[in-house]
Amino acid sequence: MKDRLEQIRQNAMAQIEAAGALEKLNDIRVAFLGKKGELTSIMKSMKEIAPEERPAFGQMVNETRSEIEKKMEEMKTELARKAREAQLKAEVIDVTLPAKKSNVGHRHPNTIALEEVERIFVGMGYEVIEGPEVEKDYYNFEALNIPDNHPAKDEQDTFYINKEFVLRTQTSGTQVHTMETQELPIRMIAPGRVYRSDEVDATHSPCFHQIEGLVIDKHITFADLKGTLAEFARELFGEETKVKFRPHHFPFTEPSAEMDVTCFKCGGKGCRMCKGSGWIEILGCGMVHPKVLTMSGIDPDEYSGFAFGVGLERIALLKYEIDDMRLLYENDTRFLKQF
Ligand SMILES: [Zn+2]
Repeated sequence: MKDRLEQIRQNAMAQIEAAGALEKLNDIRVAFLGKKGELTSIMKSMKEIAPEERPAFGQMVNETRSEIEKKMEEMKTELARKAREAQLKAEVIDVTLPAKKSNVGHRHPNTIALEEVERIFVGMGYEVIEGPEVEKDYYNFEALNIPDNHPAKDEQDTFYINKEFVLRTQTSGTQVHTMETQELPIRMIAPGRVYRSDEVDATHSPCFHQIEGLVIDKHITFADLKGTLAEFARELFGEETKVKFRPHHFPFTEPSAEMDVTCFKCGGKGCRMCKGSGWIEILGCGMVHPKVLTMSGIDPDEYSGFAFGVGLERIALLKYEIDDMRLLYENDTRFLKQF
């Protein structure tokens, strides 16, 4: 029996010595010290020994057990140390490698143009209000005096979600929401993304941005419209800028006009930028149609107002002399870096 115990001890020591890995060490623990391990089973065969020798043998087994446990603990510490050393070696940093570059971003030309326009109108006391891009047909068309049979509602021009909802073709719906819910007077601009079923080319995109403005108060006249938009043009394109208005037609304003500004490149003499005319078309505007006011619950006999809409991309393209709208959407950092 003593020989067998000594054999187990030597065997265990040898295996621990050769373990080489923490997982292996655990297997050895189970094989020798576990419930069905060798040391446990030798305790069970105690009855083969003479009763008077049993206490001494039991002590020997316990000593062997603690010897194996001690050895195992030492080996465990040693293996953990080796593993950490190996990990540190593997993760060593090569200080001669070039550093990772983090690129600093630039504001998009559209963003710069939008912030500029917002700054001008906020300076004149306007509120900036945003609205939903998926809009009820009613708010995108009908409430703006665009009846069911109007060509603007053609599926060729508009993305319909279903019969009731469209991707807004203009941000004017936001103005209707504001007229319905807010107290008068109103002075607001509504910037945002709009959608038209257009093919992509140098001047068209199925998705672009508009900034529409609305003023409603007592005694608002076309003179207020002219004064406001002339000031806007001067702030945006320079103090020397002049404006002119050409009659036009929009369903939601009456009378309606398009506004041109003197070419900020040649000052009105005529150049490539203005195609020799000295003028650049910049926005559409007009006095809010009495029908639109009535539909939003505003009495047109007491209140009047003006509205205007300008394409954000148009301003960005003009201001930064970009000749192709597609450049704004291609996300080419070589292009965007210039702003
Ligand atoms: Zn010009």
